[in-house]
Amino acid sequence: MSGSSLPVVYGDIEAAAQRISAHVLKTPFALSPSLSELLDVPIGLKLEHHQTTGSFKLRGACNALLSLSPAERKRGVVAASTGNHGRALAYAAKAEGTVATICMSRLVPENKLAEIRRLGARVHITGASQDDAQREVERLVEQDGLVMVPPFDNPAIVAGQGTLGLEIVDDMPDVGMVLVPLSGGGLASGVALAVKSRRPDIRVIGLTMERGAAMKASLDVGRPVEIAEMPSLADSLGGGIGLVNRVTFAMCNALLDDVVLLSEAEIAAGMRHAYAQEREIVEGAGAVGIAALLAGKIDPAGRPVALILSGRNVDMELHQRVVNCETDLLREDAA
Ligand SMILES: *Cc1c(COP(=O)(O)O)cnc(C)c1O
Repeated sequence: MSGSSLPVVYGDIEAAAQRISAHVLKTPFALSPSLSELLDVPIGLKLEHHQTTGSFKLRGACNALLSLSPAERKRGVVAASTGNHGRALAYAAKAEGTVATICMSRLVPENKLAEIRRLGARVHITGASQDDAQREVERLVEQDGLVMVPPFDNPAIVAGQGTLGLEIVDDMPDVGMVLVPLSGGGLASGVALAVKSRRPDIRVIGLTMERGAAMKASLDVGRPVEIAEMPSLADSLGGGIGLVNRVTFAMCNALLDDVVLLSEAEIAAGMRHAYAQEREIVEGAGAVGIAALLAGKIDPAGRPVALILSGRNVDMELHQRVVNCETDLLREDAA
């Protein structure tokens, strides 16, 4: 494979797997009888929402932290994410004997703030937007020498997320297609490199929401672009890819076979199916694989499919409303 010109190579993923193996769970893989019957091929679910902290983000965060020099680790790490990356970094920092500082705006709800603190991180509250929080990150890097650990656009993060791909090929050796939730592309870059290095014939499809899909828009025009962010059930898939993206745009461009977009109603149906049929609670971002299959947007071409349930950090009241089909919150014009 022509992966050698990319910013991450297969050996980085193998090294990451060694580095993090004692620090993350090897999550279960389960065949879905209902989806296998519907699609008439074996459909396997990588149950990564059972990962510690509730998402795969722990893999990248652990690999990034364990790749730091002792001096860097002593200075501590910093990020602006209040979502799954923030949780993972907070947990990993505490587990590895360093301190994470998570910057957030004062609009972030109290429960999210308390949760990040409970995981052992320091919380810095500044300004009224994510941009303000990011500026605070840059200030702490400049003034206090903290080490920034970004959520996706970083080789160590991509290599860490790629370890999931190694496990999938071990779990389902005859897999023909892997369905990957896609936002900044750290997960998709790592998983695609891992599985295609093992078996170049495996197709890898990125899945994201119709509302505000920055990577899809960027791939379409051939360079990173910004698009307006809109509220979505798949909130973990929100946000841009960075106009100066250095790692994940090139990798997604080289390695993804296709990107499929999903409506809010389709994502809700995916969450509902995960709950009712698979007995799994997943957040919107974690349900896009099931959603795409149910919507008839994937053609497995007679070969086994693996999909990643990437996270479970959903507000339980919202989850209940989705499961109960109280879909007023899903009106396509709600945004
Ligand atoms: C971050 C995240 C994604 C998307 O990962 P990227 O590396 O940003 O593409 C998907 N699902 C969940 C649950 C996430 O937290």
